[in-house]
Amino acid sequence: RAKLDGRNRFVMYTDAIRNEHEDGVALETELRDAIRRGEFELHFQPIYNPRSGTATMAEALLRWQHPRRGMISPAVFIPLAERTGLITVLGSWVLGEAIRSALSWPRSVGVSVNVSARQFDHGHDIVGVVEALLRMSGIEPHRLTIEITESSLIDDPDHVVSRLVALRALGVRIALDDFGTGYSSLSYLAHLPIDTIKIDQAFTQELGTSRKADSLMNAIAQLAHDLKLRLIVEGVETQEQLTVIEKHAVHGIQGYIFAQPMTAEDLLPMIGDRVATGRMGSTRSRSGS
Ligand code: C2E
Ligand code: MG
Ligand code: MG
Ligand code: MG
Repeated sequence: RAKLDGRNRFVMYTDAIRNEHEDGVALETELRDAIRRGEFELHFQPIYNPRSGTATMAEALLRWQHPRRGMISPAVFIPLAERTGLITVLGSWVLGEAIRSALSWPRSVGVSVNVSARQFDHGHDIVGVVEALLRMSGIEPHRLTIEITESSLIDDPDHVVSRLVALRALGVRIALDDFGTGYSSLSYLAHLPIDTIKIDQAFTQELGTSRKADSLMNAIAQLAHDLKLRLIVEGVETQEQLTVIEKHAVHGIQGYIFAQPMTAEDLLPMIGDRVATGRMGSTRSRSGS
């Protein structure tokens, strides 16, 4: 009996692996065709300035609208695109599309684009891609922010830093995304050619519930201030979190409390408006605007 159970379990196990594997391969093939078929779409999530209560920026978030599988999360297909090397093609498409959308917004509103570690590979000229897109679109370079994560810096930090320096020389801004999750060594932060740090949502979740997180928030805000970096807090969902955040000099707030990622069409009427709640009232009156 025990033996039979064991064998059955083994058969089920190999089937599961095979299915998972075949699914991965199928997805990979479909990924190759998806750009051509126009299955990718950018959604945008506004980032609000706590002083003015208006959106000063929107983050582009990639969506794959699969004809049969439905919406596939970037958490699934970005790693796949990275493994297959398709991320460079896809990433260039995202940059172009994000800039194109931003051209229909007020000039005071910027666009922030996630860039994968592989887009800094030696074989891919990201600086050339961005330079060409800036020239063709005519967008003011400072309106474009490129979001990187610490993982981009692991393999060949000198090379990536040189690319970031070149991007900044074009006038583009650089943000360090997901700050507070990785191996954030505070000592290297001072040497990175970046303009902004974005506090990760996992960290934001702790705000207002743990004293430790609140005092860390204090330390990060102080650090950002000393290093002359802009500070954006993402993943803000609750009033408790917002109350803690508003005590600090924060330049941008992003999260479901104000807006979810949405289509470019839905974003358009929102970006001129102030946040339609009294939530930011205290901050607004403090800044006197
Ligand atoms: P990210 O860059 O850190 O983006 C923020 C993620 O948090 C987004 O998930 C966003 O929808 C979600 N989010 C925003 N506000 C809240 C909130 O209040 N609560 C919670 N729980 N979540 C919130 P999304 O769109 O699923 O993207 C996941 C990740 O996929 C992104 O994390 C980014 O790392 C990656 N990604 C998305 N688009 C692209 C892209 O075009 N290129 C690359 N390389 N990566 C991308
Ligand atoms: Mg991001
Ligand atoms: Mg993030
Ligand atoms: Mg993230």
